[in-house]
Amino acid sequence: MTDLYAVIGNPVSHSKSPLIHAEFARQTGQDLRYEAILAPLDGFREAVWKFEQQRGKGLNVTIPFKHDAWLEATKRTERAELAQAVNTLKFEDGEVLGDNTDGAGLVQDIKQNLRFSLRSGRILLMGAGGAAHSVMMSLLEPPPLSITIANRTVEKAFLLESRFKSYGSVMACAYPDIAGKQFDIVINATSSSLFDEIPPLPPGIFAPGALAYDMVYGKGLTPFLRFAKEQGAAKLADGTGMLVEQAAESFFLWRGVRPETAPVIKMLKDEG
Ligand code: NDP
Repeated sequence: MTDLYAVIGNPVSHSKSPLIHAEFARQTGQDLRYEAILAPLDGFREAVWKFEQQRGKGLNVTIPFKHDAWLEATKRTERAELAQAVNTLKFEDGEVLGDNTDGAGLVQDIKQNLRFSLRSGRILLMGAGGAAHSVMMSLLEPPPLSITIANRTVEKAFLLESRFKSYGSVMACAYPDIAGKQFDIVINATSSSLFDEIPPLPPGIFAPGALAYDMVYGKGLTPFLRFAKEQGAAKLADGTGMLVEQAAESFFLWRGVRPETAPVIKMLKDEG
């Protein structure tokens, strides 16, 4: 019987997940259908249980429901627990497993696709919202040289620091405090690119050979990536690879099969 999966969010029509999972299913010969569900802002819970009653096997969760999904799960992986956000639900044996594959997706993209070492890196993570929470644990396994977290609302960066500082060298700061420091990997986990804005970064922060990574995708050369290029960053990347890799991790959790990501990343990048 064909198994049913979906991405749930609000809005959701922009989501590339149906396309990605259809491609994974075709490639691996898995018998599944993958839909998009637009849940009312106050109706996430009802939408999840309706889907489960239709014998749905798993959901991807996108904005603004990742924390609601964390609350809804009856058991959670450690990375989901620490992030307090869930992007993947799996329904099995009357339980709802909540996982967060965003961090694994980011790390896979940086290490395997872009060939940058995290372990020997000084990392600057901009942002302290859902995406930043989701990737911290994966960035710390194993711990890199250091992770500096900068956020516009600096209190949120300090909260993130307090949650993760027992796992490695993690420190929070405000943007002006970055001046004079250099980083090997600079990750934009803010939503600034969605609004054609850029966090207030001082010049000179890219170490020789540095990677500039913007988690947003489908936006071309964002203001942050443009700044990074002007500032001499050696490599620029957007979040397309992360998107496909986190989807592959969800697919693996659901189906026990690991799809090939490279052709799907290429397909999305060619689409523009
Ligand atoms: P949230 O709304 O949870 O957090 C937004 C963050 O961005 C906050 O830290 C906020 O700071 C900061 N911010 C927003 N605008 C600005 C600005 N102009 N200057 C400086 N900081 C700003 O969003 P998410 O964490 O869920 O998502 C962040 C980004 O990551 C989005 O672009 C999203 O598309 C992307 N993403 C990509 C994924 C992928 O697979 N490639 C997966 C998940 C997310 P403050 O706290 O001060 O408000």
